[in-house]
Amino acid sequence: MTEDEFRAWSHRAADWGADYREGLRQRPVRAQTQPGEIAAKVPASPPDSAEAMETIFADFERDILPGMTHWQHPRFFAYFPANAAPVSVIAEYLVTAMAAQCMLWQTSPAATELETRVLDWLRQGLGLPEGYHGVIQDSASSATLAAVLTLRERALAWRGNADGLSGSPRLRVYASGEVHTSIDRAIWIAGIGGDNLVRIPVKGPARAMDPDALKAAIAADRAAGYLPAGLIACVGGTGVGGTDDLTELGPIARDNSLFLHVDAAWAGAAMICPEFRDHWRGIEWADSLVLNPHKWLGAQFDCSVQYIRDPESLVRTLAIRPDYLKTHGKDGIINYSEWSVPLGRRFRALKLWFLIRAHGLDGLRQMIRNHVAWAQELAERLRGEPDFEIVTEPMLSLFSFRYRPDGAGADLDALNQRLISAINDDGRIYLTQTMVDGRFVIRFQAGQFDCTREDVMMAFDVITEIARGL
Ligand SMILES: *Cc1c(COP(=O)(O)O)cnc(C)c1O
Repeated sequence: MTEDEFRAWSHRAADWGADYREGLRQRPVRAQTQPGEIAAKVPASPPDSAEAMETIFADFERDILPGMTHWQHPRFFAYFPANAAPVSVIAEYLVTAMAAQCMLWQTSPAATELETRVLDWLRQGLGLPEGYHGVIQDSASSATLAAVLTLRERALAWRGNADGLSGSPRLRVYASGEVHTSIDRAIWIAGIGGDNLVRIPVKGPARAMDPDALKAAIAADRAAGYLPAGLIACVGGTGVGGTDDLTELGPIARDNSLFLHVDAAWAGAAMICPEFRDHWRGIEWADSLVLNPHKWLGAQFDCSVQYIRDPESLVRTLAIRPDYLKTHGKDGIINYSEWSVPLGRRFRALKLWFLIRAHGLDGLRQMIRNHVAWAQELAERLRGEPDFEIVTEPMLSLFSFRYRPDGAGADLDALNQRLISAINDDGRIYLTQTMVDGRFVIRFQAGQFDCTREDVMMAFDVITEIARGL
């Protein structure tokens, strides 16, 4: 590709992106293709000779695009959002064009120094106390893995990496059943073993870990010769927003020398609004916490922020040059690759810097407040319909519901499965499901960056219309 061609195609791609965003409301939210349909359009063997960009681009539009689910669609109400605010897309373009590897300070001092600065901005915006140090990880899964490896090393007096785990006491880590599956995987990968992730029952509408059950489990484990090492709490669990009470868990963690990691991957973004901070009251007990600006806040994937109290323990766990520990932080140089599992790092702070500046914290707060208000309005409207029930109350902008018409009989699970399939085949909105105490429920979350109140209210029309036409 010549320089002129690169310029022309870059412009073309930018125009395409703008047109795509503009036309999103006209597209079905979820891809409507069958398994194998897209693969069948791509030749089974690679081309030996070069093809024209014009052809490649046309094939992209014709063959690939129909197989996309549109995560930036304003009526994306499934899972959690993965917002890429336009301004963060532009920042990502710059990052992609520079394509720097930012693993060490010297491999791009700006990337390191901006990351430190902008994460301290975000810390202030979230109302977190001073003394938390941030690092951008590629995903919450990676941040949680880094936290679990750190808690393992701390519990094993920093000998696990060298000695392995076979001769050491069995570590125990505690969490409720509301936590994300990334916790299980971190426990597996860290060699702690899934059987040593102890599930503590939840109670109350917040589905919070029962502190008495937690204390009892720790005591029983000690008596049985296990080594309690960590506690993983969630604020805004993935299923229905389950939220632990950190003011209760914090003292238990301290009394039992448990490393406390808090997963607020989705809900953490809302903590830029002071009125929502009750949900993580007691957060200052956390040794480590993670939130994903790439979910609700608007920083294009990937951008997961981990805050830690004692970065030294993280570096001691993950750095591959132990002599460097001595100088860490003292000479003002940080090598962020020593804070994470992968070595290579993208320049992820730039989009966060663009985002926070272009919208201001107030702009981002308004977006989140709107989503919360609109989701709650929708929940009230559905509650007012005799053939619908709200199963879990709104946690911020997330709630779950079921269709329960008179005379529907016993198989409400199957009925609601049919409903969600019909809704997603219709394409005007996109919803996903989960299980709550053995019952199939439909989740709703409002969170897409460009979503309006009308989009949320349209969900009411689509849900009720399709349900009653089943
Ligand atoms: C989305 C989510 C995760 C996983 O996030 P990734 O960044 O995709 O790894 C973890 N925990 C919670 C609560 C989540 O909502």
